[in-house]
Amino acid sequence: MIRIHILGSAAGGGLPQWNCACANCVAARNGKIALQTQSSIAISSETSSEWFLINASPDLPRQIERTPPLQPRGDSPRNTPVAGVLLTNADIDHALGLLLLRQQEMPLVVYAADETRTALAWLDNMLARFCGIEWRKLGTDFQSLGGPLAFRAIELPNSVAFQFRDDSSGATALFAPSAGKISEELRNAVHVSDVVVFDGTFWSDGELRGVRPGARTAREMNHLPINDGSLDLLHQSPARRKIYTHINNTNPILMPGTRERAQVEQAGIEIARDGLEILL
Ligand SMILES: [Zn+2]
Ligand SMILES: [Zn+2]
Repeated sequence: MIRIHILGSAAGGGLPQWNCACANCVAARNGKIALQTQSSIAISSETSSEWFLINASPDLPRQIERTPPLQPRGDSPRNTPVAGVLLTNADIDHALGLLLLRQQEMPLVVYAADETRTALAWLDNMLARFCGIEWRKLGTDFQSLGGPLAFRAIELPNSVAFQFRDDSSGATALFAPSAGKISEELRNAVHVSDVVVFDGTFWSDGELRGVRPGARTAREMNHLPINDGSLDLLHQSPARRKIYTHINNTNPILMPGTRERAQVEQAGIEIARDGLEILL
């Protein structure tokens, strides 16, 4: 069995975002909709006490404090069940959490594409004065993470998606929190995985212009919008569970009662929230 914890379900900035007065951020400040921390996912095999993280957001320390399986065991003063971090790309909201793990005694194990590693040279240098990073390469064929859990990378423009497989049950899960394009390989993975956790950053391509004139489009920011991008793809997938995550605070699907949220729900797709657990 694969265990999945959605530690954070928001895109960069979180919900609310410190400088944002959009309808969703105001509603979150007023307690009308749930707060969301920045996107990160923890995954483990049921038979293992080791956990792997997909992206490490700046909210990671607080995410660990509300997720008991990620906390240190009581049998030694310093330890962690977090055995490694897999990065989809070098975005600040995906990598800054690594710096906050600097108290670790052993080097941090980080799986990333060569381009991501190069773009994070600054972070690598900073951490070298603390625990350091032990970089591991990504492969497009399944590689073991120890125990029955294996994963492979699906290369996308400017990011990667990860597909996990539990070799004891055969269950598979796809994680694509930053998908700017649907390649043939990604499309196949969406159709054959038991669980699909997908990029739900923006509802529409020009969404950010509503709060910031001149802002880049969703596609320019490497996020396929839901309405004319990923909705049909996920709707047609036979996966047992399909879940949007990495949701930007401007996205109308966050607000109960909106037409956009209804469309997503009618398509059989869930909207992630912090703390969501999936057993597969
Ligand atoms: Zn992000
Ligand atoms: Zn906002």
